[in-house]
Amino acid sequence: MTVSTEQVVETLKDFLEESQVSINQTVRELHGKDESYHKISLPDIVVFPKTAEEVSKIMNVANNLKVAVVPFGRGSSLEGHVIPYEKGITIDFSLMDKILEVRANDLLVKVQPGVTRTQLNKELKKYGLFFSVDPGADATLGGMAATNASGTTTVKYGVMRDQVRDLEVVLADGTIIHTGNLAAKSASGFHLNGLFVGSEGTLGCFTELTLKVYGIPEFTTAARAVFPTVKNAVEAVTSILQAGIPIARVELVDESSIRQVNRFSETAYAEKPTLFLEFDGNEAGLKQDVEFTQEIMEDHGCMEIQFETDNTARTKLWDARHNLAYAYIHGNVGKKMMVTDVCVPISELADAVIYARTELDSIGLIGGVLGHVGDGNFHALLMIDMNNPEEVAKADEFNEKIVQYALERDGTCTGEHGVGIGKQKYQAAEHGAALQVMEKIKVALDPNNILNPNKIVKIESLGE
Ligand SMILES: Cc1cc2nc3c(=O)[nH]c(=O)nc-3n(C[C@H](O)[C@H](O)[C@H](O)COP(=O)(O)OP(=O)(O)OC[C@H]3O[C@@H](n4cnc5c(N)ncnc54)[C@H](O)[C@@H]3O)c2cc1C
Repeated sequence: MTVSTEQVVETLKDFLEESQVSINQTVRELHGKDESYHKISLPDIVVFPKTAEEVSKIMNVANNLKVAVVPFGRGSSLEGHVIPYEKGITIDFSLMDKILEVRANDLLVKVQPGVTRTQLNKELKKYGLFFSVDPGADATLGGMAATNASGTTTVKYGVMRDQVRDLEVVLADGTIIHTGNLAAKSASGFHLNGLFVGSEGTLGCFTELTLKVYGIPEFTTAARAVFPTVKNAVEAVTSILQAGIPIARVELVDESSIRQVNRFSETAYAEKPTLFLEFDGNEAGLKQDVEFTQEIMEDHGCMEIQFETDNTARTKLWDARHNLAYAYIHGNVGKKMMVTDVCVPISELADAVIYARTELDSIGLIGGVLGHVGDGNFHALLMIDMNNPEEVAKADEFNEKIVQYALERDGTCTGEHGVGIGKQKYQAAEHGAALQVMEKIKVALDPNNILNPNKIVKIESLGE
């Protein structure tokens, strides 16, 4: 900051209450990291706005004083997205946590950005509705929209970008805009919803979101299917998708990850490559889908299938899958987690997963391969001792190889976690000249480069 912290704090206190502006060391430390291995850096000031108007005034102050601003949801991102390497102000949206309106007949909901996905689903259940996107962490909907998050249900319901009907956005100069409306489709104007979703706090702050929701299906069945090899499991998924079966979830968990699950979730699942599956719909359709899937899986060497229709058993199965990253974290105290996140065309998936598993075995670090294989998106999860330069170098080299493999097959370096700083070095290789278009958009919307500066795209002009 070219102005002093005290000066900025005083200006912010003109319109924010004392408790909404903090320079406390512990509060700053909580906002100087995410859930990844990236280096910590603290903001100078953390603010807790309650309204869009307050966010607008904060942006106005920051823009006039040329101070960096980082929007912050829950800090669950995995590529250093919220770490304020340029210091400045972090805007924490936790006080903007109201579910504003459930429009059950329109299958829409209006929320403030600090509402979390489990908070929303608890409320929607009263209406027989649910929100589909379910990343492994209980993230905020503002953060999920900003990273274009997805999860286990994406194979059927789509990613965050598919759920956003409208965003209220505060731009860098404090202007408040709406990017969409309530209509199910529109041919009017540029697709600003698409632009702002996934912008990782670099183009604006979301202060309200209108999202699609769905009716809770009449019947749901989950299954755990065990295979002799990862290749068998992935090829079975490809065949299920090619057969057009509307599967709701299909997740791969490899042998070493199943071992972590058993330890952490006190399960006794066979320690072999496993698919966690879910089907939903009406009873008759579901029966057919399940039978057809079972036949396909047996053709691919499936050794054991366990169906779970009971709600408690299904919840246990999916909790085990959702808690997998935490199983690695808790099982490896003192180490940090690095997660690769490539997404490849489905026809390339089996070979890509095998490549990742082979490379992982060859470097000898603790880790597993898992992922949302129905979308072609998989993760290699590694636990690294950040004080051991050899381990860090091995992990970096591994990550690079996996990304390179995906890009050579016209895939992407990140299927869902986003760019932050971790995937920035691959942007030129992935986007080519299109990266310059992104840079021009950033400069047009944020000429002073104050919004989450140097994330996704690098602009050199901060503070000039
Ligand atoms: C164990 C674990 C499992 C995970 N599994 C998945 C997964 O399966 N799929 C997946 O997609 N992700 C996954 N993630 C990553 C993470 O949960 C997502 O990136 C999440 O969407 C971030 O939400 P958040 O509220 O924590 O946002 P933060 O981490 O606080 O912020 C993320 C980004 O959004 C921006 N931002 C936050 N709020 C706003 C706002 N109101 N306006 C504008 N920008 C904003 C921030 O500046 C930052 O760039 C996982 C993370 C963990 C720790």
